Amino acid sequence: MLFSELPLANSLQRAIRAVGYEQPTPIQEKSIPSLLEGKDLLGIAQTGTGKTAAFALPILQLLLNSGKFRAPKTCRALILLPTRELAIQVEECFKQYAQFTAISTACIFGGVSDVSQKRNLIRGVDVLVATPGRLLDLINQKAVSLKALEFFVLDEADRMLDMGFIHDIRKVVALLPQNRQNLFFSATMPDDITKLAATILRPNPVRVEVAPQSTPIERIHQELYRIDKRRKGALLKELLLAHPEMKKVLVFSRTKHGADKITRVLEKAGIKCAAIHGNKSQNRRQEALGNFKCEQIRVLVATDIAARGIDVDDVSHVFNYDLPDVPETFVHRIGRTARAGKDGIAISFCAPDEEQDLRAIEKLTRISIPEGDKSIFEKLPPPQKETPESEMRNARGRGFPRRDKNRGQNHDNRSNRDSNHQGGQKPENHNQGKPHNKVKPQNEKRPAAKGEGVKQTNPQNQEGHRTIGKNRPGSRARKRMREAAEAARRAGQN
Ligand code: AMP
Repeated sequence: MLFSELPLANSLQRAIRAVGYEQPTPIQEKSIPSLLEGKDLLGIAQTGTGKTAAFALPILQLLLNSGKFRAPKTCRALILLPTRELAIQVEECFKQYAQFTAISTACIFGGVSDVSQKRNLIRGVDVLVATPGRLLDLINQKAVSLKALEFFVLDEADRMLDMGFIHDIRKVVALLPQNRQNLFFSATMPDDITKLAATILRPNPVRVEVAPQSTPIERIHQELYRIDKRRKGALLKELLLAHPEMKKVLVFSRTKHGADKITRVLEKAGIKCAAIHGNKSQNRRQEALGNFKCEQIRVLVATDIAARGIDVDDVSHVFNYDLPDVPETFVHRIGRTARAGKDGIAISFCAPDEEQDLRAIEKLTRISIPEGDKSIFEKLPPPQKETPESEMRNARGRGFPRRDKNRGQNHDNRSNRDSNHQGGQKPENHNQGKPHNKVKPQNEKRPAAKGEGVKQTNPQNQEGHRTIGKNRPGSRARKRMREAAEAARRAGQN
């Protein structure tokens, strides 16, 4: 099937040609005709399947058909998404597809001032893309009302629930007019998602299920470097210097602090790079992403949370600077390369204390990752001798609980991982790449709530070391202190 065969207006057909699409993807082929008939849709699909165009194009067509006009401080279509990155991305898609129409769009999300967002809503918009918290905030401020809504899209529903947005979603749904067309997308359909869908969709929605594009793992050339943690920076630098063909490189760091450290090493070597993570302002993140997309920087260093949902085409290489301790996250990471039928390369660094993570990844992917060219090690500075202090610094959570593999996250340590928590934005859940229904957190009554992820509550820092590690005396010093205290106690007794 070709796009030209779909009953879409000339202005939309022109935009489709302008963005370079020829054939609809399976989800587009299955969804667009039913949506154009005004049916509700339950879509089980992930990002990367073309689902945005699958809902955006028919909504735009129906908005064009309806002959209604936007009223001040209202919207006609609402797309609800869990993160600002996704919201920005989806609005960009709408803008592209609507570029030859008079349809207006706006995007609202937390973590930034609401002034310009409110200004954009004064005259009303046709398509509003929003994260739940900021939407409710602006509704409460009477900056926007949902009373004139014609189309409601809940995207990434499973992630929404993972991130604790269920109450916000319910509040939004309660404000929607009865007469509306609903679209509900989720990558997985556990019971709670099915129940939520039933409260939003009209009876007998069209169900469209699309498997993610053939698991790209087979198309990805993988290499593994077993390397001491402290030499990973030097190895990454040498590999990038030795391989100019590594043009668009995404480096995954386990922590925000680690991501910053990596960029410092690369910048020193003259390699253009930037980091994106939850501590960076929204503007800095967008700037970094924009520069990476247009290849003004060669390397983008990201934490899993910040990178999730970001759609960058043509990533040539993915580096797992740190191995994730949730194996599904590894699959998600390396899937950033080898997109749209292209090949890609994924290079993973494995420190001795990550061998367990490596085994879990190899078990899940059923691939034994071959080791890379060891001659590169000759270019690295010799390994430094461990001192008791450095040993303590480098031990990952020694003496502290490791992340609970079953839960995929250590909730005590939530604040130390990338929380992506800024302003009114809720923290993202760290249960990445993990099907929602797999293993439930055991001690947790509810997922991450507002405010969590900010306060440092446990003694580990972002790298899994003790927060107070730097100021904490080494073991020998501690022994001396204990001896001195003991001597003082004895002197007191005497
Ligand atoms: P999505 O799943 O909506 O995030 O889309 C993933 C990527 O596929 C985006 O870069 C889209 O621009 C691209 N895309 C969507 N539909 C098509 C299509 N029919 N042909 C080619 N690329 C597409």
